[in-house]
Amino acid sequence: MKEIILLKYGEMVLKGLNRNTFNFKLLQRVRRLLSRIDGEFTIDYAQSTVCIRCSEGADVDRAYDTMKKVFGVVSVCRGMECAKNMDEIKKVIVANIDSLIGTAHTFKCNAKRSDKKFALTSPEICADCGEVILNARPDLTVDVNSPEVAVWIEIRDGAAFIHGSGEKGAGGLPTGTAGRGLLLLSGGIDSPVAGYMIAKRGMDLDAVYFESPPYTSEAAKQKVSDLASKLTEYCGRIYLHSISVTEIQEVLTQNCEEKLFTLLLRRFMMRIASRVAERVGADCLITGESIGQVASQTVASLTVTNAVAGKPVFRPCCGLDKEEIVVRARAIGTFDTSILPYEDCCTVFTPKHPNVNPTVEMLEAEEAKIDVSGLIERALATDNYVRLGD
Ligand code: ATP
Ligand code: MG
Repeated sequence: MKEIILLKYGEMVLKGLNRNTFNFKLLQRVRRLLSRIDGEFTIDYAQSTVCIRCSEGADVDRAYDTMKKVFGVVSVCRGMECAKNMDEIKKVIVANIDSLIGTAHTFKCNAKRSDKKFALTSPEICADCGEVILNARPDLTVDVNSPEVAVWIEIRDGAAFIHGSGEKGAGGLPTGTAGRGLLLLSGGIDSPVAGYMIAKRGMDLDAVYFESPPYTSEAAKQKVSDLASKLTEYCGRIYLHSISVTEIQEVLTQNCEEKLFTLLLRRFMMRIASRVAERVGADCLITGESIGQVASQTVASLTVTNAVAGKPVFRPCCGLDKEEIVVRARAIGTFDTSILPYEDCCTVFTPKHPNVNPTVEMLEAEEAKIDVSGLIERALATDNYVRLGD
């Protein structure tokens, strides 16, 4: 008997000719993640399922948890592989009964025979195995309609797989199948969620953080780096760029109308991020903006910000309420870091009465008073980056 982890594919099974590319990327990610975990793991792919065989003493708990973060996988389950005969199958079920049943009171057996020459039919396999389970655990009852747990017996070509129902995987599409995006990552709740949502569609991420030293601290920067590191658990490597907007903010406060400060700064962010995207080969920008959440996120405000972006801007949180974003932030593990109370450059020079109905002409009139291109070049010169994750 060998411990195994099975990964089931989701949307990927709908792919046609380029399915191999998706498959290759998913297996590459699985291999890389397992290479860092104690033990030997061999990886096989057949019938839209990846089978990971774990060596004796391998850290199967950790491998299992890690696999739940792989994009492209809809369900992950732990189980056993054994020889394809009923005596052996029943022995393995009895020996692993507690892990198969967990805390459930009702169960059902499901059999799947891809080896059609196997001596017993699926209903016969289920009946035999069900009986063995009831003998070993008389406290359980069979419920074929809505069991708390299903015990699966899969008769494959080379062996039998025995496993429970498993858990939900991360879903989406494998990392590395949708190009690269540049995430504008602040220390807030929304932008890490936005990055996660786009990464889930298979996109590689890089990130840019705008800092404003000495108004923003090293601790605030570390928080952003921690958030980006968290995202790498799902999407692999991220290069996090830090760029200073201190000079820009000082010039804005000295020369421009206060009620447009935030929007002027956001237009600088878009222009600078577009240049960084060009440098790193990213095809789009990603932000955590949500319609109407704050003054700089009314449709009029988003329109003036969008007008200077040199790349398409994706805002996956735009239709989500704060509450919904918070639920997602908790689920991906970024929430507790996001709520640490450090300042962001946007909050350092916040206007008391921001304009919620700006026009591009208003912004352009303010920008005519300052050296926009010089400020952008000098900000870009402060770019320093760290490599996080893989
Ligand atoms: P978040 O919770 O993501 O900080 P927010 O609701 O606080 O979002 P804003 O501060 O208006 O909203 O920022 C909107 C978006 O602009 C952010 O989601 C992020 O993508 C980007 N952004 C804001 N500040 C920064 C920053 N200092 N560095 C990089 N991107 C930023
Ligand atoms: Mg913010």
